[in-house]
Amino acid sequence: MVSKTRPVKVGRVIIGGGHRPSVQTMWKAPLRSGGLESVADGVRGLEALGCDILRFSTPDMEQAELLGALASRVDLPLVADIHFDWRIALRCLDFPIAKIRVNPGNLGEPWKLREVAAKAADKGVPIRIGVNAGSLPADLRDEPDRGTAIVAAAEREVAALDELGFRDVIVSMKASGVEETVRANRLFSSKHDIPLHIGVTEAGPLVQGCVRSAAAIYPLLLDGVGDTIRVSLSADPSNEVLAGVELVALATGSRRSADIVSCPRCGRAGFDTHAFTERWCERIYAIRKPVTVAVMGCVVNGPGEARHADIGITGAGDKVMVFRKGEITRTCAPEDADTVFGEELARL
Ligand code: SF4
Repeated sequence: MVSKTRPVKVGRVIIGGGHRPSVQTMWKAPLRSGGLESVADGVRGLEALGCDILRFSTPDMEQAELLGALASRVDLPLVADIHFDWRIALRCLDFPIAKIRVNPGNLGEPWKLREVAAKAADKGVPIRIGVNAGSLPADLRDEPDRGTAIVAAAEREVAALDELGFRDVIVSMKASGVEETVRANRLFSSKHDIPLHIGVTEAGPLVQGCVRSAAAIYPLLLDGVGDTIRVSLSADPSNEVLAGVELVALATGSRRSADIVSCPRCGRAGFDTHAFTERWCERIYAIRKPVTVAVMGCVVNGPGEARHADIGITGAGDKVMVFRKGEITRTCAPEDADTVFGEELARL
């Protein structure tokens, strides 16, 4: 296995070169003129949750223009996802876009790729090559081993850019199957020093998608394979970001945002941990410090867990207790729990 990938700069983020794996997601609706300010707010919200890079589908010139306008409104590195039209890629490169995703084989004549690569090199914008098992070239589609077929397809695309001297490349090889995704990425990593964007494509709805993605991404990251990740879900991008942040924290053993310890709740609970966690989780996850927040239902395990947290709340009979670093700081009625917890959280 190649020990370290080459570093590729994507706006303010470095992918590869031994840097911490970055977390990506994708915007899930077309951009509309007149709606850019609310999209910019949404982008900032994803950034607050730990999103490092955000990709947008850019199927036509209108979307390219809108993405360009958005890119100058936000700080987060934005990626233009272009499929076939080299003119859209060229237009996106007029804006402060951090990366484009395009497959050389989809652009048609070689001169179109030459134009795109030359402009990307001139602007210092890298290219992500993305190979999906569902859209392999015709001659690889019937290969019995889809893992090696995905790698062969990616290598073809890389070679086309390599011939032009373009090396700021990131590769993704995705399948909906966990095993072939893992195998393809391990194989590619053993042969090349190109940074890898890893993930399972079409992984499914929230629970299934998180399980499948974790089953593929976690072991790869543990082995040093994968420089940037996306958890693809049929769910809101905020869930993709939260799942990605958690996977990177687990695989690297280092956390940059809050960790929530919350009990599953049972008949003993004097305090609804589910509803409370649901109400507070986005605000807690937006704390960009490695703190632990405990939300526990009752005195059986509650005080013990809460005492070890930086801040904790637990049901205790008909009361709710709030702890800070092991000390009870407040006791209140359950209906006042949000107010009291919010005040304590603000002091973290
Ligand atoms: S902490 Fe209490 S309420 Fe929560 S699961 Fe454990 S016993 Fe049940």
